[in-house]
Order: sequence, then structure tokens, then C-alpha cells
Amino acid sequence: MRYISTRGGVEPISFSQAVMMGLATDGGLLLPEKIPTIDAETLKKWGQLSFQELAVEVMLPFVGEDMTRDELTELVDKSYASFTHKEITPVVGIGDMHILELFHGPTAAFKDVALQFLGNLFEFLLEKSDGHLNILGATSGDTGSAAIYGVRGQKRIDIFILHPHQKVSPIQERQMTTVLDENVHNIAIKGTFDDGQSIVKKLFNDLDFKSEYSLGAVNSINWARILAQVVYYFYAWGRVTDGNPNRRVTFSVPTGNFGDIFAGYIAMRMGLPTDKLVLATNRNDILSRFVNSGVYEAQKVHHTRSPSMDIQISSNFERYLYYLMDEDSSKVKELMDTMSSEGRFEVSEEKQERVRKLFQAQAVGETETLEQIKITYRYSKYILDPHTAVGVKAAEGIPGAICLATAHPAKFGDAVNEAIGVEADPPPSLQGLMDKETRCALLEAESTVIKKFMQDTLAEK
Ligand SMILES: *Cc1c(COP(=O)(O)O)cnc(C)c1O
Repeated sequence: MRYISTRGGVEPISFSQAVMMGLATDGGLLLPEKIPTIDAETLKKWGQLSFQELAVEVMLPFVGEDMTRDELTELVDKSYASFTHKEITPVVGIGDMHILELFHGPTAAFKDVALQFLGNLFEFLLEKSDGHLNILGATSGDTGSAAIYGVRGQKRIDIFILHPHQKVSPIQERQMTTVLDENVHNIAIKGTFDDGQSIVKKLFNDLDFKSEYSLGAVNSINWARILAQVVYYFYAWGRVTDGNPNRRVTFSVPTGNFGDIFAGYIAMRMGLPTDKLVLATNRNDILSRFVNSGVYEAQKVHHTRSPSMDIQISSNFERYLYYLMDEDSSKVKELMDTMSSEGRFEVSEEKQERVRKLFQAQAVGETETLEQIKITYRYSKYILDPHTAVGVKAAEGIPGAICLATAHPAKFGDAVNEAIGVEADPPPSLQGLMDKETRCALLEAESTVIKKFMQDTLAEK
């Protein structure tokens, strides 16, 4: 399997090269040259597999020659051994809906499904090339901890994660700073999340530093992250339909960066019988506005109770755009250029119809989110986290919908408490965090300071 860029400026590369490249060198995103498809017979078989068995079947054609079936199987088994539920991503019924629980990994959010796998995949590839990688990233909370847990203890990777000092939740801070492995370097910066992001950008643009230190990113745009997420769409379908290829399902996905829902789109293109993909956003509604009006235009970011979706520029959206433009990379480039110069673009009526044939979108406000947590708790005694509540609300009136639960409710206890006056019991991974030993450097929000810290830290090792 070869990979190409949405903007057409990358010669086809292998799966391993695509994983190591992250963002395409022409500024676009990497995609497989061709999406493999499956027939009804295969689908029926897939409906009966365990999560791990299914993960190997789904991913193998995308990996191509770069890994044997045995190597992939080993990688998958290792990656999901850290999950506390034997089904990895179980489906539970509440009322007339299904909840796909994606939060049984080490940081209690769905990003673990992809980052546990990506961490091991990096290690495997670095082992082969005898390389070393220094991951550098800034986080506003969730991604940082999931990335740290994905690579902790690995010999060929060091990870440096910047978070804004005292501006992430206490649980989120502890999830990162209580990881004491030698290859994990937490940095609290005296500044904001935006300061962190601009420092990271600056250091990645320092090309000498970048190549001398082989800097890598924990991008939500890495193809391997999308790929790992395709698996649970098939898995959930299997649980709900018992593997009957004639039964179609609808998924509701709370989204920000269009990563998770794009994985659902890939599953559909592979042959998963899908009726609709419900795209659920909070007040930060650039994506739902696009589906409903055909206009893609960023607005100001609002802070909400579902902070992991407080995003206005949706980095994975370009991948979908590539398919909407019938795989014409010059058209994608034109639209993205228009976006940079004018801050917006619009697609034709015909394209809009195509978008709405598959996607149904809704922006869910703060009051509605809390109300949904309350209603679900009242009727089903099931506690939704605020991100999941956004998706459940958007799936209202679609019986049998499969709603993706992206975080454990104990991770967002304040919002849950506000809605129903009680908090969810924390899973083992969130227990005792406040009493554990921590390690974290507190530094000025200056790129020169961060660069020196990284150089000194790596020199000492
Ligand atoms: C990251 C995140 C999302 C959004 O996922 P995307 O792939 O960016 O659409 C939703 N919920 C939670 C809890 C998250 O951490």
C-alpha cells in the first residue's frame, strides 16, 4: 500500500514512511492511494471477531509489505493489553441507543485507542531503522497524557510535552506529571496553551534543530491514528447486528478535529453498512455549519464543558475534502489556499447534497449538554461525560444509533456534578492520582528556553 498527499506534492511513499512523516511535506495530509474494500462474506466473518483479531484484519491491507501478519498481531496485542475491559471497546445499550465505550484505556479517553498503538508502532519502526525519536508537543489537557502513556518507558523515544502552568485541570495535570519514566519530560510553561503551540511551531521550523534531534510530532493528523480508530466502527457494528451484512447502522460522533468521524468515513468506504454519520459539535460549530450550509469558515473559539472539542480549525477535515473533490488534489489545494487568504470557502449545491446524504450535523449548546447528562441519568442511570452527551443529544430521534463515548465521566467530574449532583466512580487509572509522586519542570514560555532544556536533558542521558 502506497500513501499520497491530499495536495498532490508527495511521491507515493510506504506505510512506515507515512507514519514517520506525520504531516505531508507539501503541507497536506497523507492518505492511502486506494481504500481496500471487503465483500459481504468477509464482513460477516469480521462481525464475529474479537477486537484484537479484527484490528489485525482491518489494518493489515493498509500496512502492506511493511509488517508481517505476525508482527502486526504482536503489536496489536501489546497495545491493547493496557485496557481494563476485556472487550477493549464494549457496546452497552441504554434506552433505544447504543453507547460505544472508548474510554477503558490508561488515560480514560478515546485517544488511547490510537495512541497506545501509535507508540508501539513508532518503537517497532525505530527498532528496524535503529533510530531515535524526540517527540515534542503542546497540550491543553487530553492529548498530552494519552501520548505520554503511549510511549512511556520506550528506549528509542523521548517525549517532551508542554502544558500551560495551572491552566489544565488538576486531574489532567496529574495524569501527565505522575508518569516518572526516564523518557518522559513534562514541562509546565508560564503562559497559555497558545504560547505552547507557538513554541512548538517555532522549534519545528528550526530545521537544523529538527533534523539534528529528529523531532517528531504527536499529531492528531498521523495516518496511523485514523487507522487504529477504524477498527471500533466495525467492532460496534458486529456487536449490534450480530454480523448480519444486511443490517445498516448509524453512528453519532462528538467531534472537533474530524479525526474520529473520518475513521468512520473510511470504515464506510471499506464496506461497513452505514446509514448515517451524525457529526456532533459543541458551540464550536465550524464542522456542523459546513454540513448544513456548505460554507467552511472559522470563528472565535469558545470555551465549553467539552474542552477537547473546543477547536475551530479542523485539521483532519482536509482528508474528507479530498474525497468530496473526487480525489482531485489541485482542487483541494485551491480550497485550502482560499481558506488561508480569505478565511472561508464554499462548495457547490451538488457537493452539499452529497455531504448531507451521508452526514447529519448538529451543534449542541452548553445547556442542552447538561440537560442530556441529566435525562440519560434519570432514565437509564448511566452517566455520560459532556463530550459523549453532545453526541447522544445529536442522535435524538434515531433509534438504534451507536453513540461514541469518548471520555470516562469521572474525567470531567465538575460538569457531571453540575448536571446531576453526583460524580461517577473513577476507574482505577484515575484513582490515587493526587497522592502520587510527580516530576515536572516549570519554565518560561520562550522557545530558546525550551530548546536549551531539551538539549541539556538529552545530553545528560
Ligand atoms: C479529542 C477528543 C474528541 C474529539 O476528537 P476528534 O478526533 O478531534 O474529532 C472528543 N472527545 C474527547 C473526550 C476527546 O479527547
